[in-house]
Amino acid sequence: MAIEIRERYRDVVRDRWPVSVDPQPDELLSSWLHRLALANGIAPRSFASALGLGEGMWSPRLDLQLPGEAAALLADRTNVRQETISAMAMTEPALTPLLLPLRENVHRNRSSWMQYCPLCLASDEAPYFRRRWRLASRISCSAHGCGLRDRCPACRTAIVSFDQVELVPQHFCARCGFDLRAAPKAGVNAAARRLERAIADICRVESATDSAATIDVVSRVLRAPVVADIGLGGTLTNLSTAARIRCFNQLAAKRLDWLVTHEDAAVAHRRRIILAAGGHDELIARFADFLGKHQTRPRSMCPPQPCAGLADVLTAYLRVAGDRTTSKRHRRLRVPQP
Ligand SMILES: [Zn+2]
Ligand SMILES: [Zn+2]
Repeated sequence: MAIEIRERYRDVVRDRWPVSVDPQPDELLSSWLHRLALANGIAPRSFASALGLGEGMWSPRLDLQLPGEAAALLADRTNVRQETISAMAMTEPALTPLLLPLRENVHRNRSSWMQYCPLCLASDEAPYFRRRWRLASRISCSAHGCGLRDRCPACRTAIVSFDQVELVPQHFCARCGFDLRAAPKAGVNAAARRLERAIADICRVESATDSAATIDVVSRVLRAPVVADIGLGGTLTNLSTAARIRCFNQLAAKRLDWLVTHEDAAVAHRRRIILAAGGHDELIARFADFLGKHQTRPRSMCPPQPCAGLADVLTAYLRVAGDRTTSKRHRRLRVPQP
């Protein structure tokens, strides 16, 4: 009997990789894969062949499309559940157009695929890359207030941890070895950060509600460089982080009509309400959640007039969000009229 147990144990050890790595909050799949590879004594580039994947940007490609069999294999070999692994990928269709395109070699002023906050990396026990850093609409770190970076400040190459051939953690540049935690702090003014926040809040609520409004707001955000009159490639996802920070600085000085206007008065009004609630994370989350649930009701149950519908939604929402703190916060908010 004891022999049988030992045999089973050996099978488990053979099937599982020796070390499992827990995903961190908001960790991007590729970041977790690189940490997992190193923990098991394999450099990221060699790990790609161990998984039967091609060369180049193998892990960023998995971020965009994670086949079910790959997620199942990773779950099999680690202690991490398949759903948790799939949730680290960036496969939500609504915000896909805002993802920075995969580019290994970058030219001046052009975007690279990944951004980072040096101070976040410095404060991590095991430095890792966040999912939100993949979005072109993100330019700063909400925790540290500094601008994000998208290159190694020493050799100016993009983040290429997927190509690392040595057993070196991913916060060291894979080309020159510079410690990205020591990158100089990039400045962003407060107004630009408020605009970034407003865009994130509107996208969050719209993607929980209706797909036409999400497509609309995403295309407005992508056209931001045109509105700011920054003539470097037209689309936000094409611009380097430094160029997007300049773009947001320009836009922050303008009215936000370019972002909130919509032919449906109810949508435009909803966006103005979201702007007024800006910075109240819990309130925005509850609002998105409530509208998301409301949206699933049959169409015949929705009030016929868009403005009356919104008023109903907000009234009901305020009733639902009966939490004392939230209610107090909400009463303090000035809601602009359409
Ligand atoms: Zn940070
Ligand atoms: Zn470098």
